[in-house]
Amino acid sequence: MPRPNPYRPFTPDPNQMALRPSVSGNTINGLDEPERRRPSVVYWAPKPDDIAHGDMQNWFFTVDPGLPVFAEMRAKRQEVSNRPLPPVADHAAEHSPEEWTSLLDQFVDAGHCEQIGVAQMQQEWLFEGVEAPQSRVIIAGVQHNYDEIVKAPDVLAGAEVMQQYHRAAAAAVEITAWLHEQGWAAKPVTGPMATKLTMIPPAIACGFGELGKHGSIINRDMGASFRLSAVLTDAPFALTPAQAFGVDDFCTNCRICEDACPPEALFQTKKTVRGQEKWYVDFDKCLPFFNQHQGCAICIAVCPWSRPGVGPNLAAKLVRRAERLAGE
Ligand code: SF4
Ligand code: SF4
Repeated sequence: MPRPNPYRPFTPDPNQMALRPSVSGNTINGLDEPERRRPSVVYWAPKPDDIAHGDMQNWFFTVDPGLPVFAEMRAKRQEVSNRPLPPVADHAAEHSPEEWTSLLDQFVDAGHCEQIGVAQMQQEWLFEGVEAPQSRVIIAGVQHNYDEIVKAPDVLAGAEVMQQYHRAAAAAVEITAWLHEQGWAAKPVTGPMATKLTMIPPAIACGFGELGKHGSIINRDMGASFRLSAVLTDAPFALTPAQAFGVDDFCTNCRICEDACPPEALFQTKKTVRGQEKWYVDFDKCLPFFNQHQGCAICIAVCPWSRPGVGPNLAAKLVRRAERLAGE
């Protein structure tokens, strides 16, 4: 029996729906496509005119959230993007790959981010038409304040998301500046605008966790309640390993996010997307609700893994269970 949902039925604003393009966002995302290919930008394009859903993206900014913090956060994020970076030093510092990676802990210790990892760049993570020759992707993760994110779909939760996008961007710029001082070129990649690469696949590859039914990563410590930024570089960092702790099975038997999603955008089973079987969010159903609420975040807020302190115990329990089953 689905749990009662106070936001259903959801009726999209007809003004917004009038801007819907004829092509489905799911088609752009490659839903039911059997072949592997690079992702296409479906939303948050730096130039909205470049994408089919550009008018809907522009409409998002016409919704007045009634809170000055939105304008403040946008200005702060812009300030981070415009921050001048130091030049790349003439002498390239040399460390062992393991030392390089452990040096990244300084950004966690200083509170710029909560977790950091390094993946080997894969061209299939880059949006079609984008070139990035760097060999390494550093991913930084910043956690939402749970007390704010649980207010979703209130705009206060949207403000918290913007706050963390700003923090994630600042972390990427800090890491980039440090690499330049070390004599290594680097490029920050910050959200939510889709510029170079999809961040979820490298984040999974470098140990942030596993994809959940809600289409976001579930992390052992932060649950699904965090944002990401990236830095591309050739500095020879050691890679951090992927982490699996049973999320897939857990999601198969849980339907909390499915029941909580007002427009019923979450599927009960995995889908084939650009040649990969994975959890997927119905873009066409999610977007109108997301736009009308200045970002939604209900699915990540209700996920049991997002509740502070729950993840580590849950992960340990799932690992013990898997070991027990393997031993039977
Ligand atoms: S709410 Fe349940 S089904 Fe949805 S992502 Fe979280 S654990 Fe998985
Ligand atoms: S963000 Fe989208 S998928 Fe998640 S609950 Fe909101 S509408 Fe549903």
